[in-house]
Amino acid sequence: MPDYDVSEPLDTDYFAVFANLPEADRLAWERARSLSAEALPQMNDYWDRADYPLHLVKRMGEKNLLADGINVPGLEQMSPMAAGLINMEISRIDGSLGTVIAVQGGLALRSIAYFGSDEQKDRWMGPLARGEEYGAFALTEPDHGSDSVGLTTTAHLDGDEWVLNGEKKWIGNGSIGGVTVVWARADDGGVRGFLVEQDTPGYEAKTITGKASLRAIFQASITLNNVRIPASNVLPGSHTFKDTSKVLVATRLGVAWSALGHATAVYEAALNYANQRIQFGKPLAKFQLVQERLTQMLAELTSMQLMCVQAATLDTEGKLRPTQASMAKYNNTRKARALASTARDMLGGNGILLENHVVRHLLDIESIHTYEGTESVQTLLIGRDITGQSAFA
Ligand SMILES: Cc1cc2nc3c(=O)[nH]c(=O)nc-3n(C[C@H](O)[C@H](O)[C@H](O)COP(=O)(O)OP(=O)(O)OC[C@H]3O[C@@H](n4cnc5c(N)ncnc54)[C@H](O)[C@@H]3O)c2cc1C
Repeated sequence: MPDYDVSEPLDTDYFAVFANLPEADRLAWERARSLSAEALPQMNDYWDRADYPLHLVKRMGEKNLLADGINVPGLEQMSPMAAGLINMEISRIDGSLGTVIAVQGGLALRSIAYFGSDEQKDRWMGPLARGEEYGAFALTEPDHGSDSVGLTTTAHLDGDEWVLNGEKKWIGNGSIGGVTVVWARADDGGVRGFLVEQDTPGYEAKTITGKASLRAIFQASITLNNVRIPASNVLPGSHTFKDTSKVLVATRLGVAWSALGHATAVYEAALNYANQRIQFGKPLAKFQLVQERLTQMLAELTSMQLMCVQAATLDTEGKLRPTQASMAKYNNTRKARALASTARDMLGGNGILLENHVVRHLLDIESIHTYEGTESVQTLLIGRDITGQSAFA
């Protein structure tokens, strides 16, 4: 048993931003919260061993936590607010589980929902949303990260088959025997999405090891060596890189909510710890400097909550602009990083112990800060919007 219990949820909501949630959104949040008792006690061990708790992906599917707001036939539809709250709550438990939603629902399922044929939707959407199949989204390449628009993976139509060649890197769920949405340049130069089942000959995936972040989910380096798939495996609605971007923009807000989950976890750990840890004969919470740090953290956390809730409201009204989602991601991952660093310090030496959870969030937020467009890339998108000048290249 750990010496301190810092993981008790405190329902931090200083400005009552969640006070008037519609009942359906609150129930979705509770569904996510109900995973905590089961998942949280397991996560440090999986993280420590760098192992992927696939049984929890299934549990998330059973609880309808994977769809990320996509309307999946047979499953209860969720609002952008509900999808955000689920992202927040699952990331409050653990960043690797939060990333499962981003990859499986946000990217793979969303690509099929946006651009798939009716047959493809029938085949994949339900199983992916229920966690019965695993989904991956392969855009990034070893030499094309932020400039993924320059991707060099090719897809050549040969009779009634596409032949794929190239390399991908950092692909979540890319090595666990599911389906991968591979983004490749077709014969006409257009970027299209292709459904590749991971046991297809020529698809070789190696789980990336040595990660110091998101250790409880697998990412893969993938080689596509003359991978042959039926002509019908192209996503018929995908034609250009702009289509790929539509998926990325839609998931960016989810990442902002995830960062809010990480920030909530570390703030509440710091507050719990400050009340429990005695130094100089009294709880840390009685010291003015500690109160000042908690106040600063709470102010930042509250601003993150407000931004997420307003963005979800705009999204529900169909008014969310892509650069507003960029700003939410930019703001929240920066702030979550800072809060995690402060919280780690406030727990002293105990802050580096996995049993107190903060260091796991501290390291996991590093990946969330990078994926779905780095801080610098979001800055360039916002900068272009406010100045009218592109500073990308
Ligand atoms: C844990 C994890 C999971 C991921 N999951 C997936 C996944 O499932 N599928 C997928 O396709 N990809 C995935 N990614 C890839 C992710 O989207 C990329 O890592 C990200 O886009 C950044 O690319 P990069 O790592 O190659 O960095 P680079 O693009 O090489 O950037 C390095 C640095 O240079 C900066 N930079 C780049 N261009 C500019 C510029 N024009 N001006 C100023 N600064 C610039 C960046 O901001 C960054 O700080 C994942 C990554 C990680 C770490």
